[in-house]
Amino acid sequence: MSVERDPIFGCLLATGRRDKDGYAFAGKTRAHIAAWSKARGVIAPGMELDHLCRRRHCTALHHLELVTRGENEMRKSWRYRARRKLCPAGHELAVNRIVTPEGGAVCRACNRAAESQST
Ligand SMILES: [Zn+2]
Ligand SMILES: [Zn+2]
Repeated sequence: MSVERDPIFGCLLATGRRDKDGYAFAGKTRAHIAAWSKARGVIAPGMELDHLCRRRHCTALHHLELVTRGENEMRKSWRYRARRKLCPAGHELAVNRIVTPEGGAVCRACNRAAESQST
C-alpha cells in the first residue's frame, strides 16, 4: 500500500482504488484498518475506527481513534464533534484544531509529533 502525505492536514492518504464510499484498500482490507491493525493489533468486536479528519482513505494513525459503534454513530453529527475539547492524545483542541474540508478536525500537536517521527 502506498500513501501520500497531505502537508496541510497531516493525512496519509492511500493512493489507488477507492470504493463508492471513499475507502481505499490494502488487498481486501480497508486501508486504514490494515494500517491500524499492523501497528496496534486487531480491532476488538464492537469497536470501530473513527476518522478524525473525515477522510476515509486516510491511514494516519493519529487521525484514527478506536471508538464504540455507538460513539461512532454520534460522531456523524457535526455538532457533537465540534463539542470535543481534547484530541485522543489529550491536547487542547481549542488551540490545536485544524478543520479539514470534509468537516473533520485534526490536532496540530499530533500532526507535528507524527511528522517528526517519520523524518
Ligand atoms: Zn487524516
Ligand atoms: Zn493531539
